[in-house]
Amino acid sequence: MQDKIGFGSLCVHELPSKKTTESHVLPIYATSSFAFESINQGIDIFLGKEQGHVYSRYGNPTVEAVADKIALLETHGLNMEAKAILFSSGMSAIATLIMATLQSGDKILTQGNLYGGTTELFTKVFQPLGIETILTDLKDLNTVENIIKNDTSVRMLYFETPANPTMACVDMEALADITKKYNRISAVDNTFCTPYLQQPFEFGVDYIVHSTTKFLNGHGNSIAGALVGRDVDMMKGKIWQTMKLAGTNCNPWDAWLIHNGMKTLELRMDRHSQNALAIAQFLEQHPKVSKVNYNGLSSHPDHALAKKQMRNFGGMLSFELKDGLQAGIDFMNKIRFCTLAPTLGDVDTLILHPASMSHINIPKEIRLQNGITDGLVRLSVGIENAEDIIADLDQALA
Ligand SMILES: *Cc1c(COP(=O)(O)O)cnc(C)c1O
Repeated sequence: MQDKIGFGSLCVHELPSKKTTESHVLPIYATSSFAFESINQGIDIFLGKEQGHVYSRYGNPTVEAVADKIALLETHGLNMEAKAILFSSGMSAIATLIMATLQSGDKILTQGNLYGGTTELFTKVFQPLGIETILTDLKDLNTVENIIKNDTSVRMLYFETPANPTMACVDMEALADITKKYNRISAVDNTFCTPYLQQPFEFGVDYIVHSTTKFLNGHGNSIAGALVGRDVDMMKGKIWQTMKLAGTNCNPWDAWLIHNGMKTLELRMDRHSQNALAIAQFLEQHPKVSKVNYNGLSSHPDHALAKKQMRNFGGMLSFELKDGLQAGIDFMNKIRFCTLAPTLGDVDTLILHPASMSHINIPKEIRLQNGITDGLVRLSVGIENAEDIIADLDQALA
């Protein structure tokens, strides 16, 4: 047919598919919609009688392949099924979870030291829509149970473990037991660990969110998020519908970058953990450092709990400089090898001084309440050779 149509038409039209053998790696389906073979097929797909793609906001083969992989990783070895959906960011995964599971009048019970964006999403976006957030110490299980028992509008318990900046952990099994007992929803942000280091489904949690931007991708080249749920019907129903209608879907290019990054997830997480432990041990004996927060150190208050829930301790740590704010600024100015960047989970070591960077506009009292002291430095330890990272920290501390 190609020689019978005009030059301009030839420019416009797709050539017939030459697909013979399968591509070895996941292809990027850069298409907004999918063509139906016949009107009958179109009708059946729209009615849900036949599986098929329609429009990439509803679903896309590249995006779904990555979501399926994440669901398999989160359930690996657990003898259970789960379903994952990818989103345009970690924040949109969390927002979609809230929109799909809660309504005006419901309340979220959570901790004060969540990822800052999540706290702001809950208080600045959902609070005005009638979904209130209650902050409490989730280590205090009696208080948690009392709040849930006495207030039936508390529909969701949302937590992060380990959490910034002190790597404090909460007991996922104990918290999920409470939500099950009172028929509420539990959700955890598993960004810091990835399913290689921690599988919250094992402890009974209902929903897992990820900023795949961080360790799952690992290379700092895409923004995306994931939500994994053990209630497959809910994931395929209300949550998929909310994603599709709110347009919080991931795009195939970012999905493909996550897919590529995840191939080395196990290798990277092993190395992140190994390097972070070596660095934590180096910092712990340094005279200018007053405190090191790393779950892998026996000095960490949650070391035993972390050991119960996590396979290894990951790449995140923080430490306090004895001489406060000025020491923090001087230290950051001397850093050469590590990168000053406000993200985490990349292959290279990233360093942040919250008091002069991410938290500079936050009142000091509030910052201190969340453990962010003047001299606190956060490290996302990369997979470089540990001695190069240690040498940089050592010269910057001198
Ligand atoms: C980065 C991050 C988020 C938000 O994810 P985005 O991909 O930036 O939207 C949520 N939770 C944690 C723990 C994070 O580190």
